Amino acid sequence: MAKVVFEEVAKKFGKVEVIKPVNLEIKDKEFLVLVGPSGCGKSTMLRMIAGLEEITSGLIKIDDKIVNDLPPKDRDIAIVFQNYALYPHMTAYENMAFGLKIRKMSKSVIHQKVSEAARILEIEDLLDRKPKAMSGGQRQRIAIGRAIVRDPKVFLFDEPLSNLDAQLRGQMRLEIASLHKRLKTTIVYVTHDQVEAMTLGDRIVVLNKGIVQQVDTPQQLYKHPANIFVAGFIGSPKMNFLEGILVVEKEHCFFQDLDGVVRVPIENKTGLVNGHKITCGVRPEHIFSDPSKIKTTIKFSAKVTWVELLGHDGFAFFEIGGKQHSVRLYAEELSNPPFEKAFFLDIEKLHFFDSESGMAVD
Ligand code: ADP
Ligand code: MG
Repeated sequence: MAKVVFEEVAKKFGKVEVIKPVNLEIKDKEFLVLVGPSGCGKSTMLRMIAGLEEITSGLIKIDDKIVNDLPPKDRDIAIVFQNYALYPHMTAYENMAFGLKIRKMSKSVIHQKVSEAARILEIEDLLDRKPKAMSGGQRQRIAIGRAIVRDPKVFLFDEPLSNLDAQLRGQMRLEIASLHKRLKTTIVYVTHDQVEAMTLGDRIVVLNKGIVQQVDTPQQLYKHPANIFVAGFIGSPKMNFLEGILVVEKEHCFFQDLDGVVRVPIENKTGLVNGHKITCGVRPEHIFSDPSKIKTTIKFSAKVTWVELLGHDGFAFFEIGGKQHSVRLYAEELSNPPFEKAFFLDIEKLHFFDSESGMAVD
């Protein structure tokens, strides 16, 4: 059982507030991902849980116990870092055993724990090797093993896969997900990679400039982003944005883009007035060249100026409102740009935001 709670937790470095007051409850056995661009405060949040960074105000609780003044070694947590942080002169076995030795565990208990972790991570044949004789992926497994043997209440991961190549990252991602299933421990996982966040997290905290933007399940973040930042950050390739205004006509409201290409009815839940600046968001996968599978569509035409082929399918790029937009199409439809093409928007999948506050309005 390990719950981690942030109550109004803020962090300043000198005069700069890098974490604005955060309230967050990380549930027992939850896989919680902290995601956001570089420098937004992810590592600082993690280091505050670990006790490696003092908090400026607020309370951090682990299992209902305030840990603000508890040194890292007494918090029963283990961290895995991006750069592995292994001791170069020790073998994999010694690296994994080291923390237990310091805690004065017996040799037989240490052996049992290291062997068990090595079995789980399938690194039994690496135990005699020193870090320099291992690949990046193998080193990261040893670093994870070193955390597992501690049997901590909470695992903290700080961009553990960022040093690995794309293929290995994909493989390790699956391994970490299955590790969580087996260990049934609370995990707080930091990454700047939204794909990692979406595939690993039970819930995701989206952070920008030290401010929590939204805390939700991956599907909710994708379907109902709370603001423009989250909408643009989650999803690959990025959501397209089109600037426009709100048109109020009697009881009906419409979004109309500045070039008058797109006009669609919207629900104006926040009661904005006629002429208010609105941004319409649509994901590349919600623009179609064939309208037959969509319930409510609107049609527009655009000049495709550039394509990117990925094999089976790819992306077409076109300009509306002075901005480049993308749409996913089959490879057959992507030959010889420039060309003019008709597209269909799935109206039910559109997102609308107040351009000034950035907040969702529908
Ligand atoms: P992330 O992990 O999301 O990339 P960090 O948590 O490392 O971001 O950093 C958040 C902000 O705090 C950054 O602007 C960074 O420059 C600043 N920062 C981090 N550590 C320190 C420090 N020890 N002293 C001063 N500023 C720091
Ligand atoms: Mg960081």
